[in-house]
Amino acid sequence: MTDPLAWLVVVGLGAMGLIVGSFLNVVIARVPAGASIVRPRSSCPACGAFIESRDNIPLVSWLLLRGRCRHCHAPISIRYPLVEMLTGVLWALMGLWSLGQPGTDISPLLPTLLVVVSAGVALVFIDLDCHRLPDSIVLPLWPVAVVGLIFAGVMSGEWPIGRALASAGLWVLVIGGIWLATGGRGMGFGDVKLAPVLGLILGWIGWGPAAVGLASAWFIGGGVALVLLIAGRARRRQAIPFGPFLVIGFILGVLAGTMLLDAYLSGTGLSAIGGA
Ligand SMILES: [Zn+2]
Repeated sequence: MTDPLAWLVVVGLGAMGLIVGSFLNVVIARVPAGASIVRPRSSCPACGAFIESRDNIPLVSWLLLRGRCRHCHAPISIRYPLVEMLTGVLWALMGLWSLGQPGTDISPLLPTLLVVVSAGVALVFIDLDCHRLPDSIVLPLWPVAVVGLIFAGVMSGEWPIGRALASAGLWVLVIGGIWLATGGRGMGFGDVKLAPVLGLILGWIGWGPAAVGLASAWFIGGGVALVLLIAGRARRRQAIPFGPFLVIGFILGVLAGTMLLDAYLSGTGLSAIGGA
């Protein structure tokens, strides 16, 4: 990609992602508690002082303040700038992917992907904190996905509805199967509600993304669970938050799914990846 305009789009998306990440920090802190995400303004958890606008610039403020409150100098968690940076990077990556799709200047799926990865970042941290995926974030993803895919269909003239539905079915079958098999102890029902919407979007893109996404969630989740068990950090009957793996699987499915499945099917996996 050598088009300077394309790079401008990617950098612009990254900057917008930083700002969205700043908002996601508020969502992560307040939604599980059922608090409003609009009011009151953010304040320092240690001294209660309101955070001024100049100290609320994503990433920059945290660095300038060296990770401490301006008023009481209590440390501000490094998680805040990390969430902002992660969201910025994901927005830029979704832009890069969208610009690289054949047949279009920019994929009409981009708006849907941006909403889903942003919600995904919030869900990952809420699941790590509270071991649940709030309905107030998961359920709106359904209409977002349906409207987003209809938009993509109208813009591109392609309607891979059957593949999208089959993929959604596959995702809910596998994730719901784990939920049933473990009697709801292995993962929460929130995962079962989230899985098909991720599968639907990946299936719309292609079988590669759908399969790679599901397999990545499965293997990375299983691998981490195994490491935690071996390290004695988790007990066998303890539920491990699975939402993060679904979200990571979705992102890997979008970014690498088509390439990895092509490589696998052509039987020259390593050379195809190396040459890409
Ligand atoms: Zn303070």
